[in-house]
Amino acid sequence: MSLRVVFLGTAGSVPTPKRGLPAIMVRRLGERILFDCGEGVQRQMMHAKVGFHRITKVFITHMHGDHILGLPGFLQTMALLDRNRKLEVYGPPGIRRFHEAVKETVQFALTFPVEVCEVKNSGIVCKEKEYAVEAIWADHVVPNLAYALVEKPRSGEFYPEKAKALGVPEGPSWSKLQHGSSVKLSNGKTVKPEDVMGSPRPGRKIVYTGDTRPFDGFVEFAADADLLIHDATLDDKLAERAWEDGHSTPSQAAENAEKAKAKRLILTHISARYENPSMLLEQAKKIFKNTEVAEDFRRIEIPLKDF
Ligand SMILES: [Zn+2]
Ligand SMILES: [Zn+2]
Repeated sequence: MSLRVVFLGTAGSVPTPKRGLPAIMVRRLGERILFDCGEGVQRQMMHAKVGFHRITKVFITHMHGDHILGLPGFLQTMALLDRNRKLEVYGPPGIRRFHEAVKETVQFALTFPVEVCEVKNSGIVCKEKEYAVEAIWADHVVPNLAYALVEKPRSGEFYPEKAKALGVPEGPSWSKLQHGSSVKLSNGKTVKPEDVMGSPRPGRKIVYTGDTRPFDGFVEFAADADLLIHDATLDDKLAERAWEDGHSTPSQAAENAEKAKAKRLILTHISARYENPSMLLEQAKKIFKNTEVAEDFRRIEIPLKDF
């Protein structure tokens, strides 16, 4: 089952000719999930050829304009396209007031329900059958939520030869076992899923910091992430300035990736001062090898894990 990340905007604070404002799309089965919704996100989606209609959830990290000003335009376009599917919007306190104020002052009529959820506490903010989205308060100049999309473990591998040997007839009984139910055979014996399946396989995990300085608790939050998308607004030489502005440097991002035992690190929220971000990459790679600097429209596939 495919899990793909598409970077729609990778700039920090202001857009550049090469980089749009923060927006990251996660594609999982029929769902599209947006993390942050910077201005210009609609055109970025068109360029990336990702459909609007399948977006079911938007997670906003914080109320700074570069992360949220794309939302009103996106909602308006969805309404013009006669969307009727519900959209869930998650974000820090203030997001509901923002949404209501825009709706009232811009006076657009929505054709679909928007469910706004203000996240007040760290923890699971959205629970689905196969995954959950967790949040943790980060350390920016305004309240910022870092998010983790965490898949539940997948069931183990099915061994048809074991099922055959136990006398389970091929067909609906196999499917029942694969979906976690026991099967009663005509001879009265019961076959349990664990008799014919391997042990459960871990799900995948994507973590996105939003804007933040390094903070206590993040390493545990991001533990074993398959993909860590981290603020790296300014280079190491500007660490003091980054701290003042509530941001991280490439080395700080890399230290977090290393300590969290992440598999892969992507630096994002790149300041407009770095037309060529190679310096950021070098600084991070000294600490964490498997690092890249995000680019708009970059797609990353996160493979299934067997153990
Ligand atoms: Zn920002
Ligand atoms: Zn910010």
